[in-house]
Amino acid sequence: MKNRIDSSRQRTPWDNKEDTTIIENFIQDKYKDNYNLKHPKLIDTDEVKVINSITINNCRHCDSDRIKKNGFTKNGVQRYYCYECKRSFSPTTGTIFENHKISITEWVEFLLDIFNYGSTTLTSKVNKNSINTSTYWLNKVFLLLREYQNGIVLKGKVYIDEMFYSVIKCDIEKKNGKKLRGLSRNQYCIGIGYDGTNIIAIVEGFGKTSSDLTKLTFINHIEENSRLIHDDEKAHRKLVKELKLVDESYSSAWLKTKTDKENPLRPINHQCDLIRQFLNTHSGFDRDNLQDYLNLYCFMNSKPRNKLEKVNILLELALNTKVTLKYRDLFETKEKDG
Ligand SMILES: [Zn+2]
Repeated sequence: MKNRIDSSRQRTPWDNKEDTTIIENFIQDKYKDNYNLKHPKLIDTDEVKVINSITINNCRHCDSDRIKKNGFTKNGVQRYYCYECKRSFSPTTGTIFENHKISITEWVEFLLDIFNYGSTTLTSKVNKNSINTSTYWLNKVFLLLREYQNGIVLKGKVYIDEMFYSVIKCDIEKKNGKKLRGLSRNQYCIGIGYDGTNIIAIVEGFGKTSSDLTKLTFINHIEENSRLIHDDEKAHRKLVKELKLVDESYSSAWLKTKTDKENPLRPINHQCDLIRQFLNTHSGFDRDNLQDYLNLYCFMNSKPRNKLEKVNILLELALNTKVTLKYRDLFETKEKDG
């Protein structure tokens, strides 16, 4: 599978030609060197060490602890045998690295590109992968980050606001041939919270927020008795009351008279701008993935700041989470939908 996906970027026009010119030969060599650098063979990296360092106490198939070590694969990866289900497995069985369709080395590069705000198109060019491969990897990141925001609780000075993001062009609902105006069903409402350290961004629904939606979005993500800094949106009041928040709200009319610098809501406005920029980098993305992109944004912009530490967190998560996504499944669903 992998060879087929990547073959387009691996090929040169002179692969089957015998009498290549010196220049053709030179270009071909350089290109292939670079390709091989981006796609190292498992045997040439320290990946096996990483894989074999994973602690395995239970069967990757049935979770039984009646397992034993059972030799190595030809690449040197530790194999295990389960007495319960009588199946073999390796430390990567059931993880996104199963069958090694993604090498861990490539994964690290890929993540760093994504964290540097690379789009899938650009990232696949840099890493010499097809766009489908990059989309596939991105969807694996999404799976790993599905639960990520659950653990985030903002505290101290907490800013909240709503931002709106348009549905895809072909989904825009029209009334008598005219686009619906204002905060209609053509706009996703995204609740944003920020405390200077961590950020949360959750799709609330379409159009304006409501007391119940605001409460549902933020109730588990803000510590009681924190200070809430926000605009005078009435829908926020229920949340303030329930969490006994110190209420610091500013009227929209008053805020309009302030410059950006004077605006007390500047930190959250800035986050909203950044999120919009981030989403626009991936313009035309499937809006079914909107929450996934927001999870990724929050992961990128919350603690820890260092990108390598973020790679570390995701790698640990990837190696210890039983989650797989079949390439075929991802693209067959997409084709059906499209
Ligand atoms: Zn088993």
